[in-house]
Amino acid sequence: MSRQLSSLLAIAAVCVTLAPAPAIAEATPAPAQGAKSTAAKKTAKAKKPVNCSQVKCLALTFDDGPGKYAGKLLDTLKKYDAKATFFLEGQYVKARPQFVKRMVAEGHELGNHSYSHPDFTKSDGAKIRDEIKKTQDAVKKAAGVEPKLLRPPYGLTDLQVSDIATEFGMPIILWTAGSKDWSSKNVKAIQKQTLAVAEQNGIILMHDWVKQTVDGMPALIKTLKNKGYHLVTVSEVIKDQKLEPGDAFPLPEGWEQ
Ligand SMILES: [Zn+2]
Repeated sequence: MSRQLSSLLAIAAVCVTLAPAPAIAEATPAPAQGAKSTAAKKTAKAKKPVNCSQVKCLALTFDDGPGKYAGKLLDTLKKYDAKATFFLEGQYVKARPQFVKRMVAEGHELGNHSYSHPDFTKSDGAKIRDEIKKTQDAVKKAAGVEPKLLRPPYGLTDLQVSDIATEFGMPIILWTAGSKDWSSKNVKAIQKQTLAVAEQNGIILMHDWVKQTVDGMPALIKTLKNKGYHLVTVSEVIKDQKLEPGDAFPLPEGWEQ
């Protein structure tokens, strides 16, 4: 239904480009059709269908949390009906389980970002497994679900990390661009940088422990929406990638396709 509607809209858009006059006629339906189209719109709104191969989707991702500003961030995301993905650190899941519960209840996606943030490429296999497992357990205890995505600390990965991610059934999710929030710690700079690197199906790295990121989020979301972006989870933007457990996306520099 939603795909059909999107296809029709896509066709309508082509019509507007190719033949303006008939398109305008079509855009002014008779009253009966108008009622039908309103009903269709209501259905579409209730289901919130987003097809990221056709519209501009963007995934905001927040690492190292839940940070102490996570509650305020969740309030903002809820207000603007935006979804995000949180790559959680087990030690903070344990410290702030209420936020993890809210994230799940409010439709956000969770990822595993280790328990205590060691560099996985400098850790042995037992340590990596322990870090991932302890975080899976902490999230399950807090919110009743287990993350299905892995983002190793610092985005650093190698073949060993990939093998272990495969054992846990998780693809490795990195980012297409960073907001540089942790280094600038400046509301305007974070907004400027994020808007500069935003692209269709982009995955943006942010942090919910950076106060300025959370403070600037309402204005940033408004601007992104005005530019036509739909803020969705990572799983939405990677749908077409058909990633297998252990696959990394986007591929780290120097990795073969
Ligand atoms: Zn991190």
